[in-house]
Amino acid sequence: AMPANRWKRVVVKLSGEALMGEGRNGLDAPTLARIAGDLASAAATGVEIAVVVGGGNFFRGIQGADKGIERARADSIGMLATVMNGLALEQAIEAQGRQARALSAVPMPSLCESYSRRAALHHLAKGRVVICAGGTGNPFFTTDTGAALRAAELSADAVLKATQVDGVYTADPKRDPAARRYDVLTHDEAIARNLAVMDTAAFALARENGLPIVVFSIREEKAITAILMGAGRATYVAP
Ligand code: UDP
Repeated sequence: AMPANRWKRVVVKLSGEALMGEGRNGLDAPTLARIAGDLASAAATGVEIAVVVGGGNFFRGIQGADKGIERARADSIGMLATVMNGLALEQAIEAQGRQARALSAVPMPSLCESYSRRAALHHLAKGRVVICAGGTGNPFFTTDTGAALRAAELSADAVLKATQVDGVYTADPKRDPAARRYDVLTHDEAIARNLAVMDTAAFALARENGLPIVVFSIREEKAITAILMGAGRATYVAP
């Protein structure tokens, strides 16, 4: 069902949560190494890989706003959290023998290169894993929206959304044992059935640009590489 063997470039959305392993926050070194190894293998297949990394393992703007930090400022802190993850991921991927470049949507030139479409395309063409940190660079957005935005502007063939479950279900599989996983869906079916594939702004951007979204579990060993090979369990959302 998935035309994965024809993809030339993909955007992987990696939430901060994916990097904390069994911990409650922050970074888990073995988990970081495992995912970095997967990304290095994925890039070794020849597909260009851009990763949009979240920050929820350190900070989310909404949480800060709940504690009385004004939302725009809390979101700045959240964006900084994504840069922390981006820098850690960059090093972890290079430790696996694959070049990587973290590019921040919020310029921090002494820490990493600033994001530009041109720089991203340049590094991708060199076979480097590009890590897009800082989300969209604006408050009131999420890194899901950052992923859809980067995928659209980099003309990616798909957004691979790494989650804790192996796809989109008819109901929450943790609560409802009768929940069934979808293999394929259209964007319109996802809306009609009220299935939250990505947040609303991200989903709208993907839908308007005809971007396929692949939802899969990052808990599986070499999950990203498997998806690129057309193997691995996932839900494929496409027009
Ligand atoms: N954020 C933002 N603008 C963006 C992307 C992220 O302000 O374009 C902030 C926002 O506060 C968000 C935090 O960064 O809560 C971390 O990102 P996200 O919640 O998407 O991380 P994830 O849930 O994927 O780990």
